[in-house]
Amino acid sequence: FSRLTQGLSKTSQQLTEQVTSVFVANKALDAAALEELEDMLIESDFGPQISATIAEKMASKKFAENDPTAVKEALAEAIADELRGREEGFDPLSGPKPNIVLFVGVNGSGKTTTLGKIAASLTARGAKVLIVAGDTFRAAAVEQLKVWAERAKADFMGRKTGADAAGLAYDACVRAKEEGYDVVLIDTAGRLQNKQQLMDELLKIVRVIKKVIDGAPHETLLVLDATVGRNALAQEQIFGRQAFVSGLVMTKLDGTARGGILVPIAKASDAPIKLIGVGEDIEDLQPFRAREFARSMVG
Ligand code: GDP
Repeated sequence: FSRLTQGLSKTSQQLTEQVTSVFVANKALDAAALEELEDMLIESDFGPQISATIAEKMASKKFAENDPTAVKEALAEAIADELRGREEGFDPLSGPKPNIVLFVGVNGSGKTTTLGKIAASLTARGAKVLIVAGDTFRAAAVEQLKVWAERAKADFMGRKTGADAAGLAYDACVRAKEEGYDVVLIDTAGRLQNKQQLMDELLKIVRVIKKVIDGAPHETLLVLDATVGRNALAQEQIFGRQAFVSGLVMTKLDGTARGGILVPIAKASDAPIKLIGVGEDIEDLQPFRAREFARSMVG
């Protein structure tokens, strides 16, 4: 088992078992079985449209009796088709230096953890990394980032509670330029209670970063939690509408049997999926590769 396959096992167990059972029970796939298949996909949160498309594709295929492997492969292929063109690599070390990466998303989505995992993988490659605690209102988030910075052997910048996040981001970019950092990872606030205020703050951070470094931020990653299902789709709409998101990270795919949610989000978003989280360990943050993902999703 790879980490990816292991991480997606909740979804694959439900999905594959159910889908193969349809094909074993119905050698000739009738309308009722097709509907059943569609329902199963909807249950895994693929959404009505994508579920219909995948079910139709599956229905048009002929499978030999008792060949679950062929069914699984066809299902993986149909899922991968839906994800075509929605993947992109993430490597801040291949971009301009200092590379500025902004993390946005609602509280609890996994922003801090994702930032920490990325920091650790970058320092392991020898990069000089600065972590910036841009959510100045959540003391716990600041502490958590500090722990990640120590663990990753990255440098850390924070301010006292309530300090201006844009000011901090500005100072961090100036320092990064002066001191030759490779990458600056900036956490941001994620309080959705006042959407406009949150967006204004994010846009202000983006503006001041651009003042210090032309063309920055080089990446703005929107972190979405797979376990909240359709809510993640709504969050993508809220942040994505501001048009500054360059890539998506979908976390906690290991914590749900409804990992299909990644597919409608990938299709709805203008930004590609860059990374996925399939567990708590550093190695559980993985590059998103559609084909591999689809294959692991069916177990
Ligand atoms: P933030 O509020 O957006 O900064 O969220 P955190 O980074 O604090 O994450 C919230 C919780 O989700 C923490 O307990 C993390 O350990 C956990 N978490 C983040 N990513 C993953 C993942 O891919 N899988 C699992 N199982 N847990 C995750």
